[in-house]
Amino acid sequence: MDATVRVTLLVRRAARASFGLVLTCALAAFVVLRGGAAAVGPELVTLGCLWLLLVAKRLRSKLRLTGDAPFLLDFELGALLSVGLDAVLLRLDGTLSGRFSPAIYVLIALVASYGRPVPGLFVVGWIVVLDALIRYKALGEPNYEALATQAAFACAFALLNLVLLRAEVARVRITARARIEDELLRLRDDARSYRLLGAGEARGEKAEEQNTEERLTRSSVDEIHQSVHYALDLLRHCLDLYTAVLLWRTNSGTHLRISELSTASDDVRDAPFSIGDGVLAAVLTKKEAVLLENLGPSYIVPYYVGGCPVRALAAIPVVDDGIVRGVLALDRIDNRPFSSHEHDLAAQAAHYCLRAIQNERIFVQLERAKVEQGKLYRAAQALGAALSEKDVVEAGVRAAREIASFDLAAVTTWDEATRMHQVCAAKSEELAIEQLVGQRFAHNTGLVSMVVTNRFPLPYKGEFDRTHQVVLTKRLAWPNIPSLLVLPLLHHGRPLGTLILGAKRRHAFGDTVRPTLEVLASHLAVSLSNARMVHKLETMATTDGMTGLFNKRSMLEQAKAKMSAALRFRRQLSVLVCDIDFFKSVNDTYGHDVGDVVIKGLSEILKRQKRATDIVARFGGEEFVVVCEQTDLAGARLLGERIRDELEKTVFQTPNGPLKVTCSVGIATFPEAGVTWDNLFKAADDALYASKRGGRNRVSAWQPLAPRIKAG
Ligand code: GH3
Ligand code: MG
Ligand code: MG
Repeated sequence: MDATVRVTLLVRRAARASFGLVLTCALAAFVVLRGGAAAVGPELVTLGCLWLLLVAKRLRSKLRLTGDAPFLLDFELGALLSVGLDAVLLRLDGTLSGRFSPAIYVLIALVASYGRPVPGLFVVGWIVVLDALIRYKALGEPNYEALATQAAFACAFALLNLVLLRAEVARVRITARARIEDELLRLRDDARSYRLLGAGEARGEKAEEQNTEERLTRSSVDEIHQSVHYALDLLRHCLDLYTAVLLWRTNSGTHLRISELSTASDDVRDAPFSIGDGVLAAVLTKKEAVLLENLGPSYIVPYYVGGCPVRALAAIPVVDDGIVRGVLALDRIDNRPFSSHEHDLAAQAAHYCLRAIQNERIFVQLERAKVEQGKLYRAAQALGAALSEKDVVEAGVRAAREIASFDLAAVTTWDEATRMHQVCAAKSEELAIEQLVGQRFAHNTGLVSMVVTNRFPLPYKGEFDRTHQVVLTKRLAWPNIPSLLVLPLLHHGRPLGTLILGAKRRHAFGDTVRPTLEVLASHLAVSLSNARMVHKLETMATTDGMTGLFNKRSMLEQAKAKMSAALRFRRQLSVLVCDIDFFKSVNDTYGHDVGDVVIKGLSEILKRQKRATDIVARFGGEEFVVVCEQTDLAGARLLGERIRDELEKTVFQTPNGPLKVTCSVGIATFPEAGVTWDNLFKAADDALYASKRGGRNRVSAWQPLAPRIKAG
């Protein structure tokens, strides 16, 4: 940006920021200087309008900002209000100690209550200073003692307001939080008693998941209450009841609580009723309805405070899964016994209430299954997209993180042939386990080995006891964490290894996450097996089966890429073609098997002699090609000589006695010998024939004046 533009922008920004403050000070100066003169001049009206405009503008900007108003804005607003108030006081009383002077405390209270503390204190300071200046300059009454007293009062008033207000806000907040927590607790208790949640179960570990879970639970509990209330209300009006109430067993099972009720009474109490209480005990133990009539005021109906107001009562058991979980109690004031028809109706209502609860239970389960399936679907997608073993392991660990939260994850692989395990990944942000990667250990009685043998997750309930359990092997230390889960990676029932998850908190791998993790582990196993297959196919497509060197096709691809790079960066590049001398006679004399051993022998020499950046390929039969990047003729010749020399010195032991072979090498260097691969390779091949013609067991370089090819 241009310097002038930058300076202009800076000045503009500074002017904009300080504009309000400057005008506030100007207004204050005007009040201080003219405050004594009580005449309402046109300039005063103009300044008053300006003041009103500024206050309105500041107020609007402050309201628009969401709780994070800048310091200056708060201060300006307070200062502007104080200037205006002082001007009004001077106009009305002609002094700051008149009838309306306490108004200043109203302003202080306002600033202390609605402004932020620091700018608020500055405004109080401003009020005191302005007050002093007006008294001294405009009114000529420099009474320092009165001034000090007023300042002290102003400060004390502001502080008191501030402290009291904050304390009140904190108190309200604490009470509100406690109420919300109580409600949540009640909601969870209800959810557990309706078996929407397992006992002691806390589902979802991430905040987002917890919110979803809470919403789900809340809506289900609400739905149950609405349905039950509807049934009770209907029942009460149809059967002319005083109260229709559904009592439900608490999670512990030792008490009953009011789940929902419809009543005309004001004396119903909602407390946990012991299951041993009178009529309730009879229903719960007999699992049968109890119908009572002729009740007197001394009879105890648990949900009424004080004496019994009703004369007839019917208590119907609500049986869920063979257990009496609730009691539907119906009563009426007049002593009219419940007929068998009414009893049937009540039994149907009890059944309806139970169905409402069961339906919600199924709904919650379906919703949860949907969430779990979503996670598994995403996991399967990520695992399906990963083609290498490393990517599969990473995708698997990432997916596991969506299902459960853990502090460490590791994957081991199992080699059936050698009966060895190997740690192929170990990740943790806080625990030191990375050093385990690559470690191999024999099959033993540790958890990983047992999981591979039994094809079953261990340890039981995901609880790890370091004193009695070994994870990998005794030699490899495992962090001391209370939660651990080793899952088998099974593909078609065959163990490929294990997925290990560990957590620093207790009960991290409970029933809510274990089944999903087991499904994930099976997905991981399939993907791992696929990745291995892909790797195998890739290797088969690019390498030569006998020697493990690149094959011709893959070599050509790489060689052409290296040629383009050499051309672009003007680097040298050499090609060596290597052919075993009189190989036909080796085959003929010693047989093909020995011939193969010789081919493998030369390939080993080539692997040993080449540099990391060179590519070596078996081009066909007993002919090999080496492509050397950034290598001139001298370097290539040196390599060729080393290869030739090592093969010459190698003795192959055969059933027909020791065998020694030699090879011939041809070299061509880019760009002198050719600028395309075909030309360069042809030049190297020509040089090889020069070696052959020159007597074999030698290295020849392509010469520019073909066919005068010089043998080395
Ligand atoms: P020269 O010194 O001129 O190279 O003579 P040579 O006998 O080595 O001739 P050439 O290079 O043409 O020989 C190729 C022989 O290599 C032919 C074939 O029998 C043998 N051969 C090709 N592939 C294999 C293989 O995989 N195993 C074995 N044992 N022999 C092979
Ligand atoms: Mg040969
Ligand atoms: Mg050959």
